[in-house]
Amino acid sequence: MTSRSFLRLALAGAVASGAVALATLPANASKAPRTVPVRLLALNDFHGNLEPPSGSSGRMVDEHGHTVEAGGAVYIATHMKALADQNTIAVAQGDLIGATPLISAAYHDEPSVEFMGKLGLKVAAVGNHEFDEGYDELQRIMKGGCHPVDGCSPAGEWKGAQFDYVGANVLFKNPNEKTDALAAFGAQQPQVKQLLSDWGVPALPPVSVKWMNGVPIGFIGLVTQTTPSIVTSEGIKDLKFVDEVKAANVASKILKLVGVKAQVVLVHEGDQVTAGQSPDACSAVPGAGNRIATQVDPEIDVVLSGHSHQAYLCKVKDPAGNDRLYSQGGSFGRVITQVDLNVNTRTLDIDRASVVADNHVVTRTVDPDPDIDDFVDVWKDRVASVANKTVGTITAEITNTAVPSGESPLGNLIADAQLAATKTGGNAQIALMNPGGVRAPLTYPNSPANEGDGVVTYGEAFTVQPFNNLMQVVTLTGAQLKTLLEQQFTGGPNNQAFTKILQPSANFTYTYSKSAPWGSKVSDMKIDGVPVTDTQAVRIAANNFLVGGGDAFLAFRDGTDLWSGPLDIDAFVDHLGKNNPVAPPATGRITVVD
Ligand SMILES: [Zn+2]
Repeated sequence: MTSRSFLRLALAGAVASGAVALATLPANASKAPRTVPVRLLALNDFHGNLEPPSGSSGRMVDEHGHTVEAGGAVYIATHMKALADQNTIAVAQGDLIGATPLISAAYHDEPSVEFMGKLGLKVAAVGNHEFDEGYDELQRIMKGGCHPVDGCSPAGEWKGAQFDYVGANVLFKNPNEKTDALAAFGAQQPQVKQLLSDWGVPALPPVSVKWMNGVPIGFIGLVTQTTPSIVTSEGIKDLKFVDEVKAANVASKILKLVGVKAQVVLVHEGDQVTAGQSPDACSAVPGAGNRIATQVDPEIDVVLSGHSHQAYLCKVKDPAGNDRLYSQGGSFGRVITQVDLNVNTRTLDIDRASVVADNHVVTRTVDPDPDIDDFVDVWKDRVASVANKTVGTITAEITNTAVPSGESPLGNLIADAQLAATKTGGNAQIALMNPGGVRAPLTYPNSPANEGDGVVTYGEAFTVQPFNNLMQVVTLTGAQLKTLLEQQFTGGPNNQAFTKILQPSANFTYTYSKSAPWGSKVSDMKIDGVPVTDTQAVRIAANNFLVGGGDAFLAFRDGTDLWSGPLDIDAFVDHLGKNNPVAPPATGRITVVD
């Protein structure tokens, strides 16, 4: 929070007590309700896509059912300028950074956060990916300073985000931890203090208040409570991610205590949709996002969501039975959600009936914004020498699309690369790769610049493996390895929500049964053709996300004799170089039976 919003928050507190309530109204204001307009412009899951995203990541179904090219910072800026009026507050629902292209990732996403500032963003919820490099790094992104290992970027010392990051359900595990997340409230608001002492120690500001046309709007940040299972555990070991609804309700009470009744939730959790729908349709299939949108306190007027990378505009019922907007704007900067609403200047609350939302596709048929064009070019030049280096060639496209067994050619290739990189130092016998970490295909031809020759540049390899995860090796028994593979399937004690098939290295084969009950799906595990016994020790290579129990693969946490090796991107680049040219590996390492 900026010092300016501290001041204004104090004023909001005064409004609550009635002391200056009249001062906010014109002297001759009648008793009749009067409203002022507010426009929200919202983005979610930008993921550092300063350059227009390519392939399916850069296409979007528009309001007319046409698939169009969408996204790119220069176009986002043009669309934002066209949509913004003097009543506008720009907001975001998380995953602005993390899992980003090299142009952003090479500089710890400072370029993306700077871009968001240039767009005029005021408040953003943290997403799970804001924690990719850990809580300390997120604090640096928020507050400024140079990276502790890599130093300052070519742009000089990082000045910090120009907007407020909020996350009401992110608490310190240690109840005695010192926090500055609520410095704005503590001193003058004993009731807020009391509320928090019953609740926990916030690791981030839970709310941010922005004033528009003389009325305060409270923004509550929330991030998926599943964050610990999808983010590398080391960087968030001091944090807990608690139930989104409970946290929203505490944050809503805080806002109410300081007189802020126009309340908007920015939540990094959302729902899936039925494919091919208009971005303005309510095609969301009720899930984790809908639970939050329907269950949070009736004082909350609007729920803007993210995380599932889908576009939808829904009206749901709040617990009091009133309509409440629940929306999301796709991902990668392809959609801007516009929300127009009126705030009653007497009650300071949002008139629910006035809420109108529209998802705008960020088309590329508009003129690129010249300032942002220059800005992106500067970073493109800076990263070019790294990005354009050839690291290998491929003989045909290597896709990350799964075949029925759950393997993909690119997933298999990465597993092979990871085994090769960990055999010597870590004595790895097999490798397993999470499918969600294979972020893009290696296309052929890769780009107009190297058409037809199958060249893979460092930039392209990085797009596939953007997390900078460490390769690790642990020992599991054969029985534990079988448990790990059972954890790929829905159900079981971890209550896996989705089936996620780990990509195996070529020398590891097994069979799974689609119909067998959870716990006895996997059979016939073999390493180099030799059956794996229950008591046998197996050295397994995987990235540190999986080894930490990521994607709910909790069996990895039973691993012993941990060895840490190279970065996953380095293992991949190495493998491409040593096996040049690389052909798409066959699938068939996993056999599926009914
Ligand atoms: Zn997310």
